[in-house]
Amino acid sequence: MALLERCVDVSFGVSKANSGIIHAGFHHSPSSLKARLEIEGNRAFDGLQAELGFPFRRVGIVVAAFSVEEMKTVDHLYEQGVENGARDVEIVGRDRLLALEPALSRDVVGGLFAPSGGIIEPYRFVFALAESAAANGVFLFTGWEAVRAHRQNDAWHITSAAGEDCAARWVVNAAGLRADAVSAMFGAERFTIVPRKGEEFILDKGSAGPPSRVIFPVPARTSKGVLVIPTVEGTVMLGPTADEGGDKDDTTTTPENLERVFRFASQMVPRISKRDIITSFAGLRPTLPGDDFMIELSRAAPCLVQVAGIQSPGLTASPAIAERVKALLMSGGLELVEKADWQPGIPRMHRTRDHAPWELDQLVARDPAYAHLVCRCEGVSEAEVVEAIRKGHTTLDGIKYYTRAGMGRCQGGFCTYRIMRLVARETGMPLERITKHGPGSELVLGHIGDRP
Ligand SMILES: Cc1cc2nc3c(=O)[nH]c(=O)nc-3n(C[C@H](O)[C@H](O)[C@H](O)COP(=O)(O)OP(=O)(O)OC[C@H]3O[C@@H](n4cnc5c(N)ncnc54)[C@H](O)[C@@H]3O)c2cc1C
Repeated sequence: MALLERCVDVSFGVSKANSGIIHAGFHHSPSSLKARLEIEGNRAFDGLQAELGFPFRRVGIVVAAFSVEEMKTVDHLYEQGVENGARDVEIVGRDRLLALEPALSRDVVGGLFAPSGGIIEPYRFVFALAESAAANGVFLFTGWEAVRAHRQNDAWHITSAAGEDCAARWVVNAAGLRADAVSAMFGAERFTIVPRKGEEFILDKGSAGPPSRVIFPVPARTSKGVLVIPTVEGTVMLGPTADEGGDKDDTTTTPENLERVFRFASQMVPRISKRDIITSFAGLRPTLPGDDFMIELSRAAPCLVQVAGIQSPGLTASPAIAERVKALLMSGGLELVEKADWQPGIPRMHRTRDHAPWELDQLVARDPAYAHLVCRCEGVSEAEVVEAIRKGHTTLDGIKYYTRAGMGRCQGGFCTYRIMRLVARETGMPLERITKHGPGSELVLGHIGDRP
């Protein structure tokens, strides 16, 4: 089994830029595939976390209604949630809602509480999955963009942009925003993935009024609305917007959308302050007409499974999507045998910021690099950065997602050069070749020192 990834690292597609919520299963109609997979996916996260150790907490979700009219939509969400099988979802009055989430505006009239909702660090989740897969025999090819495919002798022959070849009996098209281009490449179904852009804004740790649960407004037609989200690592996220169309690579954010998001979010949580915003990003939801997931055996091309239109709640649904793909492969005639020596667990990484001082002393005695702080805002040591690099994350973004170095208040002002020096030391790469997220994002222009 091989995973072909166009970017230089896994998780650099849609999966790196989202709200990091494990949804509870009340937002989507019971007739949709995504509602079913959202519920199944949600239930899988405790087991996955125990095996893979990624940051995840079931903090619960509240939907805040600000009028009697909005409470009618809450009733609808509740009924939908119950029909979908969402666990322990309940309609709550004003006092209970404020007790559940004291950061909320006193203007709320009531809402919904879904305790099974949670928050996750999405890139750490993807890295952990990839690490576990690789440890169990999956070949990982990054920087490998599939550009051509043809079928010969019962196998697909796929060629990369750099001219490498890969042959496989079966192919799963899980290409996110480019699933339409990949489908066309295999002569399979014709469809168009339309990006729906979501801009998000991050508030610093220790900002005023961080909520303890994920706060949703009553949803709009094409999105769940602007949310206030506590992240697993203590920052707060505001967003996302939902703007349809445009470029599949456009991840810019604008001051106008910041105003829009902030106005909306501060109506729900008045204590948040724009002064606490440390950064912003945009993600693009890969949408299909009808807004549902498309997960099926191709009817136009042999031995191809289509996994397209995986917009929200794709992160939540991902474990259930994998099970469905497995079932489709078997129904298509592929014989799958579980490996006797399959070991899903991966080694846990030490985070200096999570350790008590006496535990840190023991770590430092084993490896003094735990005592060298590389990122002051997030408390990341040299040992953690080196571990990320040795696991193959050699871009600044890869290291940032693996360790959080560069994610704090100074946004890499202090640590960027230190990290570059460590990448150069560990890999032998000259500083001029170190990138933020792959070719074209080099950080140093020109030459350093007396190197030609
Ligand atoms: C703003 C926003 C907020 C969201 N919030 C949430 C949320 O809170 N909860 C939730 O459950 N979901 C959320 N989602 C949805 C979730 O992020 C996605 O459903 C999920 O990440 C999709 O994963 P994927 O693996 O299908 O796509 P991707 O992560 O994009 O993976 C597809 C990969 O295919 C690669 N690829 C493409 N073409 C080729 C090619 N030709 N050759 C080789 N590789 C190729 C890409 O580089 C990419 O890495 C959100 C999405 C957005 C945009």
